[in-house]
Amino acid sequence: MSRTLHLHNGFFIIDPTLGTYCHSLTMSDGIIQAHDSLAPEQAECIDLHGQCAVPGFVDSHLHLVLGATGSGDVQLNGCASRAEFETMAISSSCKDASEDWLVGSGWSEECLGEMPNRMWFSNKTKTPILFYSADFHCAVVNDALLQNVDVEKVKTLQGGQRIDEGLIFEDALFKGIMPHIPEVSLSVKVERTKRAIRELHECGITFVGTMEKMKDIASVLVAIQECQQLRMRAMCVDDPTTEMIESCNTLEQNSYLKITGFKSFLDGTLGSRTAKMYFPWVDTEGSGVWTGHALLDDLNKWVRKVSSAGFAPVLHAIGDEAVGRALHVLKDVDGSLVPRIEHAQCIAERDLSAVSNRWFGVQPTHQPEDMKLGMKSLGRERMSELHNWRRMIDAGGLLSFGSDWPIAQPNPLLSMQIAIGQGLTPNEALVSSTTYGAQSLRSTKGGHLRVGAYADIAVLDQDPLQCDWKETPPSVTMTIVAGKPVYTKE
Ligand SMILES: [Zn+2]
Repeated sequence: MSRTLHLHNGFFIIDPTLGTYCHSLTMSDGIIQAHDSLAPEQAECIDLHGQCAVPGFVDSHLHLVLGATGSGDVQLNGCASRAEFETMAISSSCKDASEDWLVGSGWSEECLGEMPNRMWFSNKTKTPILFYSADFHCAVVNDALLQNVDVEKVKTLQGGQRIDEGLIFEDALFKGIMPHIPEVSLSVKVERTKRAIRELHECGITFVGTMEKMKDIASVLVAIQECQQLRMRAMCVDDPTTEMIESCNTLEQNSYLKITGFKSFLDGTLGSRTAKMYFPWVDTEGSGVWTGHALLDDLNKWVRKVSSAGFAPVLHAIGDEAVGRALHVLKDVDGSLVPRIEHAQCIAERDLSAVSNRWFGVQPTHQPEDMKLGMKSLGRERMSELHNWRRMIDAGGLLSFGSDWPIAQPNPLLSMQIAIGQGLTPNEALVSSTTYGAQSLRSTKGGHLRVGAYADIAVLDQDPLQCDWKETPPSVTMTIVAGKPVYTKE
């Protein structure tokens, strides 16, 4: 039997792109049925006591399964010296003396003060150890791990040149090392992903765009969608071979799980200085690197393959030259497929005119750390290029916000606060966290609360369009998915 929920005595922002609102909302069968109408008989009623409700937040770019299960058991965030790093490595490898690999993540050169290397691990350890950097585009590994991989082969891949030091970057990491990491079992993956979804609900997130391998989509996400707790739009990171496209098309899809696109990398990151820039870095030799299909020089072919199969081509581009190339290569793709450029951290003046009506998945929570990095690596002159969302919107760009979790914690209200601090209006920040987030994932029923929309809602203790974002930003008090409360603040 369908369940009817009636929320009343609130302020509901129906559609942030239209500026429409109401004071009560009725939903059944998981869908918004009416605004400002009387509670139907037998409806469950919730009094919002004047609180504000917005469309459930959309995190348009994260790595759900990787974040829940792949970032490892050792957290190195905040690790500030070689001594601290070594202690962490020794204490965790003692605990787990099995054949399994020990995986960790979160270190950064910035925080450590220098790059780590294989000598930082005790050579007595028999357990293969791999510690990802905070941006997951680099890893440091120990000798035991190097014995498990074909070092000479990894050396030939982009980013494999420093493997003798135990440092592996980009394609060499993604293609040469990651496939060797022993798999976490399906039941553990499902359990940990469910736990992660509960944390998303605490932040008001009801809808995500997630970057996944097909085998995780077909096993973990298929199992997760049965719980009907989160709308997931997956972007497949595998190569779009005929067989892969066939498996995407034959996967049973519903309002909780759809495959919307394929993702490829054009370059690396700011932190690793592997983002591809038009001009050299200030503090490192070179101007970054091309990766993936940009390096193989068959990017146009990749885009055609993806789009002719009806999927969105989604391109990771961080450096200004990479963003320029992404804008160019996606130029003629049918707009209804919603091609996206992810991160787009640096945009050169020469490419601004191409930004209008194009979709960008950006990460406000990366901005505070990146500004420090930018000063060092780009120099003062290029700082206006970096994370300049005001300039992108003024040039007609369409922005959807995401966290890129596990690189940053998913927290849409923090994203909004940072974006507002950088000159966006509260309404622009809300649009990028809701309506545009859903549109960028090809959903017409998510990201707003018009009649017929998904009954996915975040209730806030303050009106995000009126509150003091600097001093007292709002917080989430309730999250509703498909007309059912999934989180209520104690
Ligand atoms: Zn990502």
